[in-house]
Amino acid sequence: MANETARSVGPVILLGPPGAGKGTQAKQIVERYGIPQISTGDLLREHVARGSSLGVEAKAIMARGELVPDELMYGMVAQRLREPDCRRGFVLDGFPRTAAQAGWLDAFLEQELFENSEMCPPVVIQLVVDYTQLLLRLTGRRSCPTCGRLYNIHFQPPRVDELCDWDGTPLITRNDDRSEVITERLTAYEKQTRPVVDYYRVQQRLVPVNADQTVIEVTAQIFGVIDSHRSECRLPAK
Ligand code: AMP
Ligand code: ZN
Repeated sequence: MANETARSVGPVILLGPPGAGKGTQAKQIVERYGIPQISTGDLLREHVARGSSLGVEAKAIMARGELVPDELMYGMVAQRLREPDCRRGFVLDGFPRTAAQAGWLDAFLEQELFENSEMCPPVVIQLVVDYTQLLLRLTGRRSCPTCGRLYNIHFQPPRVDELCDWDGTPLITRNDDRSEVITERLTAYEKQTRPVVDYYRVQQRLVPVNADQTVIEVTAQIFGVIDSHRSECRLPAK
């Protein structure tokens, strides 16, 4: 337990449809292993908020629930993964979303990261959920604009209705969690992100986890997967 935050972890890729709990689980991984969460959705939302040229291009696409074109994603992701805090590993949440992105990521990791550091190879975890549960998870999703904590009014409600437990800020619903957009996002997932699951399955790198359990149960399974992956890749403590 003592060296969870000292040894290399390597890239952890969380796959699953919107609402499967990728963001929530990524935060648990961050806490236990001390590696950063790279959420491409959050990175894009920052660009939109800042009004960068990428943000301007991405804004309308995201509002429709469609995927931002691959070529726009690569520069943003490469820049983030080159930051020094990613050297022991990182959790990818929301990337790769297309088979092309998965191929790009493999090439990127091989060229840039494995050359320079002793990182474990990526572990790919698929969060498997039932469709009706998904709709409840997505429509119930709320977040705190102050501290970023995530809630769900059906599964993980705050103690006081619609207020953050931590700082009392009124919770907000993401723009694209409105029901018409949700359908579009699930369709985009089926069409474009399913092939990512297939990509890793064919290579026998996919580890499915049943995500229709409590957050704590899912987290425990994920930690088990990461720990056994790390002991298999047996890198010296760094
Ligand atoms: P998320 O927060 O992961 O659900 O992402 C929100 C939105 O950002 C998605 O609906 C897409 O429009 C866009 N997005 C996030 N990650 C990607 C990606 N890897 N490729 C393309 N678009 C993305
Ligand atoms: Zn808060």
